[in-house]
Amino acid sequence: MALPEGDYYGMPDQGVKIGRGDVGELCTPETVRRTVDAGEIEMFQSVLRRYLPGAHGEVSSTLTCLYTMTPDSHFVIHSHPSDSRVAYACGFSGPGFKFAPVVGEVLADLIVGGKTAQGIGFLSAERFKRSPGA
Ligand SMILES: Cc1cc2nc3c(=O)[nH]c(=O)nc-3n(C[C@H](O)[C@H](O)[C@H](O)COP(=O)(O)OP(=O)(O)OC[C@H]3O[C@@H](n4cnc5c(N)ncnc54)[C@H](O)[C@@H]3O)c2cc1C
Repeated sequence: MALPEGDYYGMPDQGVKIGRGDVGELCTPETVRRTVDAGEIEMFQSVLRRYLPGAHGEVSSTLTCLYTMTPDSHFVIHSHPSDSRVAYACGFSGPGFKFAPVVGEVLADLIVGGKTAQGIGFLSAERFKRSPGA
């Protein structure tokens, strides 16, 4: 839900699961903050009170999660520069799970046949290469 307060998502889950995809802290799996503070809980509660009052209630659990983001928020799908038997895909950020079947297909095409019928040019890792002198 794109709200004035930000991008929220949610689903029924023994009550309601609510999350936010447009804010976060730059971190690694080693440095991620695994606690959700009172201000963040109030942020979610106030959105529920305003837009889904029937779903507003006691907090049963909190969780932080990790996204891998690229600078342009598009995925990376690429063959290894020096070993065509290796291909990789990453940077799926928020919406990646639903693409898993086609990404798996593309990676198999690249490894087995060195090419794919899917238009993946815009997902090449080359797009982040610095131009000489940049
Ligand atoms: C809270 C949340 C909600 C989301 N909701 C949606 C949604 O509704 N729809 C959607 O399409 N996407 C959603 N996503 C995004 C989706 O989950 C990700 O984009 C996707 O899972 C990324 O796939 P991945 O293969 O890059 O990484 P992951 O799915 O994280 O897989 C990485 C795997 O590598 C393994 N691993 C890590 N280190 C090592 C190691 N050293 N050796 C071997 N294995 C290792 C991990 O155990 C893990 O199994 C959501 C993500 C989050 C966090």
